[in-house]
Order: sequence, then structure tokens, then C-alpha cells
Amino acid sequence: MELNLDEIAPELREELNRNVLFTTVETVKGWIRSNSLWPLQFGLACCAIEMMSTGGARYDLDRFGVIFRASPRQSDLMIVAGTVTKKMAPLLRRLYDQMPDPKWVIAMGSCATAGGPYVKSYSVVKGVDQIVPVDVYIPGCPPNPAALIYGINKLQEKIRYEAKTGKRVTNP
Ligand code: SF4
Repeated sequence: MELNLDEIAPELREELNRNVLFTTVETVKGWIRSNSLWPLQFGLACCAIEMMSTGGARYDLDRFGVIFRASPRQSDLMIVAGTVTKKMAPLLRRLYDQMPDPKWVIAMGSCATAGGPYVKSYSVVKGVDQIVPVDVYIPGCPPNPAALIYGINKLQEKIRYEAKTGKRVTNP
């Protein structure tokens, strides 16, 4: 049925504009998912200290709906905070595989992004994207809490955009 707004009394039209919202289920799902990200509670090196302080009272990640979970089965976000060694890589992948879909990954800091100061080391993975697909990269050694919050905000934007448009945003 088509709704002709011109036939409606002006005061009712005003009321309608304020109270009726048209959207899609996918957009609502994207909005809900992006505002209730539950990261897996684990850290690999010094970047994890910054991640912990971001979750503390001063920066308060809870206000974005970001609440750390102690089990991969209850998490939909993996924040790779620290140096990924070749010994740790299979365990990291196993944790990722145990997370239910849909799930996202943030590479926090230069170690997780590309090996960081240990890039020439025999024992360090040169970027966690070799192990798991990464959605957002955060530069820095270490990135400060504001940078992590910015990265999380970017991920939220990405989730909402993908839900709204149906297009997958991939990293180059
Ligand atoms: S990027 Fe820097 S601060 Fe972060 S884990 Fe690597 S060495 Fe530590």
C-alpha cells in the first residue's frame, strides 16, 4: 500500500516524521553488532598493556559496548596485541577458529601488523594477516589507548557499512 503524505493533516505528518523509522533488518543487525563487540581477553606482549589500560576506568571501553570475554566461544573480536611468534601462531589460529561467526580481527601495533622491531628475527611472524584475516590495522609501537579506540570505531563503521550496503570491505 502506498502512503500519500499530502493527504495527512500537517500535525499528524509532523508526528509521523518524529516517530516512524524505515530501515532494513540488516542495518539493525549491523548497528547492534557494532555496538556490542566482545573481544577475546588475551595479549601477546607490550601492546597488551595498552589494551588493558584502554579497558580500564580511565578510557572505559564498556561505553562502546566492548566487553572482554575469557572464552573464544563468547567472543566476536580478536585484538592481536603484541608480537606473534612462530611458536604462538598455531595457537592464535586455534583461538580464532573457536570464535563463532561473524568475527573480526584488529592488528594492534607494528608487531602484529608487520613484525615490528623484530621483523628480521627468525622466530617472529611478519604480520598476523599470514595467520588470520585482519579487518583493521593500528600503527604504533605501542599504539596508545586513544589509537585503539579509534581503531575500534573504524571497525564499527566497517561493520555498519557492510550491513547497510551488502558489500564486503577488504584490505588491499
Ligand atoms: S609494537 Fe612495540 S609495544 Fe607493541 S608488542 Fe611490538 S614491541 Fe611491544
